[in-house]
Amino acid sequence: MTAEIICVGTELLLGDILNTNARFLARRLAALGFDVLHQQVVGDNPARLEAAVRQAMERSDLLVFSGGLGPTADDLTKETVARCFGDEMRYEPAVMESIRAFFASTGRTTPANNEKQAMVPAKGGWFENPNGTAPAVWFEARGRRAVLLPGPPGELEPLWKSAVEPFLQKGQRRVLKSLVLGLCGIGESHAEELLGHLFRNENPTAAVYAKPAELTIRITAAAPDEAQALAACRDYAQNFYRLAGQYIYGEGEQGLEQALVEALAQKGLTLATAESCTGGLVSQRITAVPGASEVFGFGFVTYANEAKQKLLGVGVDTLAKHGAVSPQVAAAMAAGAARAAGADVAVALTGIAGPGGGTPEKPVGLVWLGAARGDQVFVKRLDIGRRDRATIRRAASSNALDAARRLVLGLPIPGALRAQDIPE
Ligand code: ATP
Ligand code: MG
Repeated sequence: MTAEIICVGTELLLGDILNTNARFLARRLAALGFDVLHQQVVGDNPARLEAAVRQAMERSDLLVFSGGLGPTADDLTKETVARCFGDEMRYEPAVMESIRAFFASTGRTTPANNEKQAMVPAKGGWFENPNGTAPAVWFEARGRRAVLLPGPPGELEPLWKSAVEPFLQKGQRRVLKSLVLGLCGIGESHAEELLGHLFRNENPTAAVYAKPAELTIRITAAAPDEAQALAACRDYAQNFYRLAGQYIYGEGEQGLEQALVEALAQKGLTLATAESCTGGLVSQRITAVPGASEVFGFGFVTYANEAKQKLLGVGVDTLAKHGAVSPQVAAAMAAGAARAAGADVAVALTGIAGPGGGTPEKPVGLVWLGAARGDQVFVKRLDIGRRDRATIRRAASSNALDAARRLVLGLPIPGALRAQDIPE
């Protein structure tokens, strides 16, 4: 079954509001097993709306509308869709009663123009809206269905979950379910080489999305019920674990920071950070995780050389000889942070976030990562490249979180050197 989403509202076309209803509806429809093949945004204009509806009726089994159900004259969605579906609107006293009750509950009398919202399809049907005045309505004609929902997300989302989903599920024979894998330490093209064949499968499908220094793989299976779909995802995920397990840090929507905090808690270890070019981004991401206080107590932001000396004990000579952006300084920052905080594990970042400040030897996007656990200290060169400042900082922070996670779990850090192997 195919579905099409049509969002009505001039404010959407102008970019005044973000079309979050489209995102919500697309995900929920996919989870119900609908193939969402088209989306449209139309202004508050009956002629263009009618053209959009007629086109959608040509190609989609289900049409889902958001917006334009309000009481004002520019709210025309219902009337227009009724015409296309060969239906008519009739006055429904029960809806008027619930609208009156809604206004009474807020201590107001019902404005006359709300009568318009008490109009429901003569042949189709309606769902009561507990959070507003406009009911959702549906139409049916020639094997096509239309469901119309009010625009405010606080009304649309509960109505969808409580009324529309059960209504649609009656006719559905398959559901979709997804499993998400989070990866760090592997680039998009390397992933394509290693895993490319797994992204060309019919069911389950797998798709990859790149974020700075991270990849997300979404596996989606269609099956007669949720349990079977999830089992198929799990089975398919084994292929990724077999080929790229060392890069997978977690499942579900959890980020690297959650995976790190969990690993620290599980091993009973504490962490400290020392940040130069990221200015506290690593500690910000860690402390965004509930429960981080159990494992994280010290985050040093040492932007100036003086701060690196005073707080972390980085040697004046080391800074003078190699410069702040160097493996020697990254190693000294990590070791110094662990020492100063009395932490089991520490990570450090020092680099050039740009846009200025790059040289041929030390270009924008060069970041040195230091990682210490006890007397073992590692450094890793990150060549993030000439990206914008925010991307460089984000990518560097992800690498630091992953390096910390690996040290905690006793896994190797790919591409890292032991600090003792670099020249003094
Ligand atoms: P109302 O009864 O409030 O007039 P309505 O069904 O007529 O509801 P609209 O007038 O189109 O809906 O939109 C009302 C409000 O709902 C918008 O101002 C906006 O805040 C929100 N909204 C509408 N469409 C969307 C959308 N696609 N995504 C997110 N929010 C939306
Ligand atoms: Mg409106």
